[in-house]
Amino acid sequence: MKYAKSNLTRGYANKILTIDLHTGAIDAKVLDSRARDYFIGGRALGLYLLYRRINPNTSPYAPENPLIFSPGPLAGVPNFPGTSKCMALSLSPHTGIPGVSNFGGHFGAHMKFAGFDVIEITGKSEKDVFIVIDGFKNEVTIIEAPKIEHVFELEKFIADKFTQEGYDKKNMAFVTTGIGATNTTYGCINSHYYDPTKTADGQKGFFRTKQAGRTGLGSVMVDKKIRSVIVMAEYPHGENPYGAADWEKAKRAGSKLSKVVREVDPVSLKMHRKGSAGLISFMNKENYRSLPVKNYQYGSDPRAEQISGKFYADNLFDHGGMDGCYPGCSLKCTKGGWVTLSAGDQKGTKVWVDGPEYETACGFGSNLGIWNAEAVMEANWHCDNFGIDTITAAVIIGFLMECFQRDYLSKEDADGLALTWGDDKAMLHFLHQISNGETECAREAGKGMISLVDWVSERYMKRTGLGNPEKKLRKFAMQVKGLPFSLYRTHRSLSMQASYAAASDIGAHHAAAWLIKVDLLGAFPTLQDRARALVTYPRVRLGNDNLGLCKLPWVDVFNPESEKVKDTDKYINPASQEMYAEFYNGMLGTDLTWEKIYEQTDRDINLQRVMNAIIFGRNTGEKDWVPDRAIGPTDDDLYDAEKNFHDSEISKILGKPLEYVEKMQAKEKRTILMNHRKDQLQKLIHAYYHERGWNENGVPKVETLKQVGLWDFLNKETQTKITEMNS
Ligand code: SF4
Repeated sequence: MKYAKSNLTRGYANKILTIDLHTGAIDAKVLDSRARDYFIGGRALGLYLLYRRINPNTSPYAPENPLIFSPGPLAGVPNFPGTSKCMALSLSPHTGIPGVSNFGGHFGAHMKFAGFDVIEITGKSEKDVFIVIDGFKNEVTIIEAPKIEHVFELEKFIADKFTQEGYDKKNMAFVTTGIGATNTTYGCINSHYYDPTKTADGQKGFFRTKQAGRTGLGSVMVDKKIRSVIVMAEYPHGENPYGAADWEKAKRAGSKLSKVVREVDPVSLKMHRKGSAGLISFMNKENYRSLPVKNYQYGSDPRAEQISGKFYADNLFDHGGMDGCYPGCSLKCTKGGWVTLSAGDQKGTKVWVDGPEYETACGFGSNLGIWNAEAVMEANWHCDNFGIDTITAAVIIGFLMECFQRDYLSKEDADGLALTWGDDKAMLHFLHQISNGETECAREAGKGMISLVDWVSERYMKRTGLGNPEKKLRKFAMQVKGLPFSLYRTHRSLSMQASYAAASDIGAHHAAAWLIKVDLLGAFPTLQDRARALVTYPRVRLGNDNLGLCKLPWVDVFNPESEKVKDTDKYINPASQEMYAEFYNGMLGTDLTWEKIYEQTDRDINLQRVMNAIIFGRNTGEKDWVPDRAIGPTDDDLYDAEKNFHDSEISKILGKPLEYVEKMQAKEKRTILMNHRKDQLQKLIHAYYHERGWNENGVPKVETLKQVGLWDFLNKETQTKITEMNS
């Protein structure tokens, strides 16, 4: 299909590309300006398009479930740090509710440069296909693709094919997935972009990847038989290339934030050397104990330094070239390095690994009791190559390792493979089994945590003849709404417990409300402060997902000027927020404060909640809860492992001296502690609902939806259901 392309205007291409893989119909429509102006872009616009495509009975693998890519109006502007982001959205095969995942690289920018704000793909193809969006010829085609099931082999095929056809690698950006996405519900989408600065085999330049890991969107992609979506485009030129309302203002904001990043990062977190893995040492601190160790049982370990950001920076990361995942990002945190594979068909081969980022480093490291940084990097590579989410795979393996530890599983249940803490060879072997769907245990692990608990329970009952252990297993099966936890142990952060439970509507992920760090630093003294933070932080975090912005130059670079801002939460980094507002206003021609800009996120947060409520029903709030393991010690030994800390909390709860508490039995103390913490969490969740304008069951009130202007975007059926849920 040929299409007409116009210049970017205020960051928008003003076109949506729709593709029906069943009929082969391709259409380039003008973006509805009413929806664009209300939802703005990225995640919000994608959610709205998803909402319009599905109904309460749509299955994630139904042809009508769309796969959507949506960057946002500020994406792809290299004059401001961190404009790399694009959102992938679909009904999640992993959780059954709307799935959302952001990813970096050049794909979102290229989409816009090729002429599209959104790509929406429905239907299923009969054959494996490539969708090729050619921004040079202004043409979209669907072509037959080879069935290449390993991502890096596919990457090479695509790069070779299109360079032979005359395209320059720097003008290509594409997304792929692999065989793991077919055999699990948690396939990831890899975003490939060309880095001309890195050296391999004495030659400059190779493709690198970022991932949309969460909620199984790669599994939707492969189910539609899409092997890759490839976009060819080049940067727009001219005096005002991105169509800014005030280009000088937008550029000025970018220079200011770049300066802050360049001055602050080298003397603070050093993301440019350690990447996000630098966070491991912070979470591991004795007084925080927030690093998940052995399936979140423990919160710190002296061996964590062997998998820390410093270790990677000093020993494994390659610091040559530039590590920004998009031009203009002065934070340059996308680290990577070389490892020699010890498992799989390519054993003995030296490969480039993008990562590990913090989550993957903990997931395959501390949380499995593995203190071998190279094994972690290798696991990262295999997950990317198979196309599965590192976080989900790692946390599911952590659950199974604990099942082995507690004798709920035996070697026979896993076809002779013992999954024990610290066994990196078994971990790598099992990753292969999951991705290839090789054994019953691996296939069950590929379905997800909720059904895995049932399977382990059945095996246990069959093997031992004992009662159903399901309730005990659920205490340490680390998931919310079916989505395994990202890698934060939340015992010491009530805000983060509530974030996972209620503020993240995709399940247990930190994208919406990553409050743990500032909570540990003491930012929220009262329950009401915490409830408020569960509203204000997601506005900014998910607001960035709507705009096409990376959060890290904001959240991981504390602007010293923020210390001076009066009457506000300094931890939200208000001095840098001013620069984001200047950029936004410069691009879009508005005159809004940063608070007003991000308040707009309430629209899509409410929409997502409405979509969940339609699926879960009027008691949607019952899904807003975390397993016991996320709240505190689940057995007496775990209580005693942090006895002093726990005893002092009990002393405060009971109003009794420490000497009195020390004489009590661990079992009694643990019951008091857990009941108290659960009560606090329940109170916080209800205070959060109240702040949001939701009813006591977590359903948005009609008046709230009207107040944020969302009501008019909902169809009659939804309006009726929400009204009934509030009656
Ligand atoms: S901060 Fe890191 S992840 Fe974000 S855009 Fe920059 S390089 Fe990419």
